[in-house]
Amino acid sequence: MTRPLPDTVQAAAREMFDLTVRPMTSPLTVEEMRTALSDYDGVIPTLGDLFSEEIFLAEDTWRCRILANFGVGYNHIDVAAAQRAGMVVTNTPGAVTDATADVALTLILMSARRAGEGERLVRAGQWDGWHPTQLLGMHLGGKTVGIVGMGRIGQAIARRCHLGFGMQVAYHSRSAKSLDFPAEQKTGLLELAAAVDVLVVAVPGGDETHHLINAEVLDAMPAHAHLINIARGNVVEEAALVRALSSGQIGGAGLDVYEFEPAVPDSLCAMENVVLLPHIGTAALEVREDMGLMSVRNLQAFFAGEAPPNLV
Ligand code: NAP
Repeated sequence: MTRPLPDTVQAAAREMFDLTVRPMTSPLTVEEMRTALSDYDGVIPTLGDLFSEEIFLAEDTWRCRILANFGVGYNHIDVAAAQRAGMVVTNTPGAVTDATADVALTLILMSARRAGEGERLVRAGQWDGWHPTQLLGMHLGGKTVGIVGMGRIGQAIARRCHLGFGMQVAYHSRSAKSLDFPAEQKTGLLELAAAVDVLVVAVPGGDETHHLINAEVLDAMPAHAHLINIARGNVVEEAALVRALSSGQIGGAGLDVYEFEPAVPDSLCAMENVVLLPHIGTAALEVREDMGLMSVRNLQAFFAGEAPPNLV
């Protein structure tokens, strides 16, 4: 276990395996990644543990047979290189869906209704009382949300927006979805960006989606629209987002993830029209327990000679 996971998860793993828990919360260093692969039969890595091709190529043979990733996103692992090195990779889909969708809604509401700005005003002792034209934001009812990446989390966000807030849904994905609520598929990302009041990014990270949301997409959005990113930081070209926010090209943004996290640009921190959360999409004890137990089940199945349930 490359980070301390909740007690229940450690206990479940300890029942089946000779468990080592690395006590630090920081990502593994290159040296630690090599040790993990050479000294352990299975590893539970997570976000930030950058298992690149270079790591796998450092030795001809490794002891490790499985990387049971803690998290649905696995863009920090070069899966093809792991497979060439004789390892399988698993992840934790589903366990994260509702919690991450909830944080997307938190960001949508906070950004559209200027909640961060209002909270800062109160804490600074500068609130001079209610008045009819103070902190006017964007009402969500009847507006259109555009989902980029209509997978598990994208659909959970869309469902909340439509059923909870009466929003219309449009989306852009690689394939058409059959859904139990109305949603219009747009073939082009620019076409989607131009048609929405809120654009939510929910695609996986990786080479294919790097800077998918660039200056052109931000330029296509209406000036009052908000961009929400709960996916991975580098799906959004952060420098272009800073420009779009500071020039008023878009109305606001809500971010849970950052291109170079944990670094967050000073320019973003200084702006009122952006909500900044510290990657808390799945940060609830029950959710982290479910994710961890899923990783343990993948290890258990693999070492019992069965196909792990969540192979990637
Ligand atoms: P998922 O079910 O695989 O959904 C991903 C969706 O993205 C799919 O609908 C897929 O389309 C679409 N997609 C992939 N590449 C695309 C592209 N180039 N252009 C347009 N659409 C594309 O994954 P998920 O469970 O919803 O998770 C999504 C991501 O959220 C994860 O990979 C992870 O990085 C991130 N995440 C963040 C947090 C957080 O704490 N903020 C927590 C959990 C997850 P098709 O369906 O047509 O293939």
